[in-house]
Amino acid sequence: MDTTLRITSARAGRAFVAEIEKVSGQKLLACYQCGKCSAGCPMAAHMDILPNQMIRMAQLGMRDQLLAAKSIWMCVSCLTCNSRCPKNIRIAEVIESLRLSVLRTAKRDDHLEIMELSPEARAVLPPIATISAMRKLTS
Ligand code: SF4
Ligand code: SF4
Repeated sequence: MDTTLRITSARAGRAFVAEIEKVSGQKLLACYQCGKCSAGCPMAAHMDILPNQMIRMAQLGMRDQLLAAKSIWMCVSCLTCNSRCPKNIRIAEVIESLRLSVLRTAKRDDHLEIMELSPEARAVLPPIATISAMRKLTS
């Protein structure tokens, strides 16, 4: 990678960290990766990136990877992670800010029609995630 690209990418990463901290109101660098958020998350088995990993990637400004993650839509905003964090980081708000970032910048793919999901999809999607997605994506 050439130097210009590296500098541009570092700036973009810092801008992303600042945006997520501003929208979520959380200090990402307070996280010291104890893993308690992920250990208590009821949706962890359905996630491609665990909550503590999302926080680490957010610290590092890994915007594209985070915004493409399935996990941000699997989170059902149950707030268990918030209650378990010894650093009082509100992880659910960080994840909500990632969802907002996608909805603000992407192709406005922000509406879930439950009846448009195939029977196969409805059979395998965790009901709690579907209900949460309907609530979050249609409000
Ligand atoms: S709020 Fe989301 S990330 Fe946190 S424990 Fe609940 S499902 Fe997991
Ligand atoms: S519980 Fe808090 S400090 Fe521990 S990994 Fe999760 S966000 Fe970081």
